[in-house]
Amino acid sequence: MRRNRKKKSRARGLIFTVVLLLIVLYAGFLLRGKISFFFDKIIAGTITENGNDIINEDTPVDGNIDNNMDNDTGTGNDSNSDNPENNPGNQEQNNAGGKGNNISEDGKQPVENVDDILVIVNKKRYLESDYKPVDLVIPNVKFSFDGEHEKKYMRKEAAEALEEFFGQAYEEGIYIFALSGYRSYNTQKWLFENRASKIGEEEANKLIARPGESEHQTGLAMDITSQSVQFDLKEKFGETEEGKWVKDNAHKFGFIIRYTKDKEDITGYNYEPWHIRYVGKEAAREIYNKGIAFEEYFD
Ligand SMILES: [Zn+2]
Repeated sequence: MRRNRKKKSRARGLIFTVVLLLIVLYAGFLLRGKISFFFDKIIAGTITENGNDIINEDTPVDGNIDNNMDNDTGTGNDSNSDNPENNPGNQEQNNAGGKGNNISEDGKQPVENVDDILVIVNKKRYLESDYKPVDLVIPNVKFSFDGEHEKKYMRKEAAEALEEFFGQAYEEGIYIFALSGYRSYNTQKWLFENRASKIGEEEANKLIARPGESEHQTGLAMDITSQSVQFDLKEKFGETEEGKWVKDNAHKFGFIIRYTKDKEDITGYNYEPWHIRYVGKEAAREIYNKGIAFEEYFD
């Protein structure tokens, strides 16, 4: 009798343990998505803190090193909806009319050839708030982050060139990652205002581009990074194996390092070894061979 009872209670204990184990496993299974989401957030947060672009919609970035240069011109442009996706992306709105007519007192003017592969956007030439390229696609390359995001996009021709460029890099064992491509006017506006509300417009302007003045709005630029700079945007990237490879090879695929060290006074921006801009092979080769700034290409 006693033995039987012992056996029974042992069996009960075993069943209890098994059931408990099953419950724990099931709960783990249910929470799986949330746990990995949680880790994604942590990773995203790390990257953001280092001062890059937005990793996802609800992680506003500030301190975009890159924006350091994509910046500066106050256009006073304010008319846009809150939803970046609503922008029609037409180019006609950019007054086809006379060039000189739109130059403001501070010497800034709206860009007219908005869809031109050779379009120049800088501190003097801004894009209107409703400009959005119509042919944005996601290039099939490795990104430094997961998930769907506006900044994965580039204009089709640039995206295809980027695929070839990255493809060649991978073949040669150079592991570069895309970090930030297209950025809408509204995103830029939001970034700028967010920072300005904390440190004031003047200071913000040193770090973040004013809306309309970021080359990223053209869909022709991409910031790239590598593990050697912790997937960040750092000047040090220029000295890494990846950065050097980019510098030596980008032009073969139609890209230029848009902001070089020796042309800061012409581009108006600090050196950014990570920011490449698609201009097509012909222009890229000439700019590379002559060692000139993009602005000088038109002189
Ligand atoms: Zn950039």
